[in-house]
Amino acid sequence: MIRGNDPILLTPGPLTTSLRTKQAMLNDWGSWDAAFNSITASIRRDTVDIVNGGDEYTCVPLQGSGTFSVEAAIGTIVPRDGKVLVPNNGAYCARIVRICKYLDRAVIDLTVPEDQPSTGAIVEAALAADPSITHVAQVHCETGAGILNDLSGVAQACRKHNKGLIVDAMSSFAALAIDVRNIPFDALVAASGKCLEGVPGMGFVIVKKALLESRAGNAHSLAMDLHDQYVYMEKTTQWRYTPPTHVVAALRAAIDQYKEEGGQPARLARYSNNCATLIDGMAKLGFRPFLASPVQAPIIVTFHAPADPAYNFKTFYELTRDRGYILYPGKLTQVETFRVGCIGAIDANEMRNVVSAVAQTLDAMRIKQVVPSPAARKAA
Ligand SMILES: *Cc1c(COP(=O)(O)O)cnc(C)c1O
Repeated sequence: MIRGNDPILLTPGPLTTSLRTKQAMLNDWGSWDAAFNSITASIRRDTVDIVNGGDEYTCVPLQGSGTFSVEAAIGTIVPRDGKVLVPNNGAYCARIVRICKYLDRAVIDLTVPEDQPSTGAIVEAALAADPSITHVAQVHCETGAGILNDLSGVAQACRKHNKGLIVDAMSSFAALAIDVRNIPFDALVAASGKCLEGVPGMGFVIVKKALLESRAGNAHSLAMDLHDQYVYMEKTTQWRYTPPTHVVAALRAAIDQYKEEGGQPARLARYSNNCATLIDGMAKLGFRPFLASPVQAPIIVTFHAPADPAYNFKTFYELTRDRGYILYPGKLTQVETFRVGCIGAIDANEMRNVVSAVAQTLDAMRIKQVVPSPAARKAA
């Protein structure tokens, strides 16, 4: 994979992209251009196909980062007098809680430990305790710790209790299998710059057509109104307001490469191999993942920071960056951690190389003790 001289981004996005994806951005497109608008239409079809959504679902793209689309989905789909249950085991779940508060939608912030998945049983108990809940907003892979939540169990609980389900699949879509035939959802949110390996700049919401069509006038905001975006796009083939043309062209090229690679199973296989190679290599240096392996999604790995007093993240980050790899700070409240992403146009070679870069960085920082002492472990 040829990428030029940029460092490799081992983060939850933006990601390292292929040369072909970057080259797709070398044209200027007009927003009225029929060729450009047919690209938008093809992306909408292809993303619905990835979840086997058929004719029952449509895809509504939206300008902005992924959070814009999460906010648009909540604001457009949840009625103003609705009530949202958010099983919360990390930073992206907490962001949905904040969105609900901003949008004045009643919300239940259901704390789940950061190292435990949200499950059907947890959601069922909450739904049974409060029948006034109308929707569940579930993050699939909680990118904060990198944990895989039991989306299938949660979807079954929602179906059983006849509640709406909105999925934040930002960091899992296209890598982990999601099929509407066994994970029925109202709306699912993802973005250009994650596992599809496009560049950042647009999100999209895959949503039940009939449901979306019933939501005229529900959104709190014009720019965030997915119903309005949908109606306009269906009528004119164009985006409402200036489209992120280069992002769209890059996403088209990225989806072409996704299909050529073998689609979701192939992407999952590559990321799983990346993740296993990383965890193995880091283990040889003494690093332990924060999560138990059954709940570790092959998307991003949280490692305990070295116990050595010589460690600080800023220097650790800078010295690995100087060796060509960008790491990410931890996002946990209780323990000192850092994260390494497994996604993007990278393979197991990059993971072996980042482990070498980390080993060199430990030497340069004179860090001897990576594993905490048994006493420190007990205290934690
Ligand atoms: C990346 C991500 C988002 C969106 O983040 P932005 O910074 O707005 O792109 C939302 N949810 C999850 C789980 C994510 O990984």
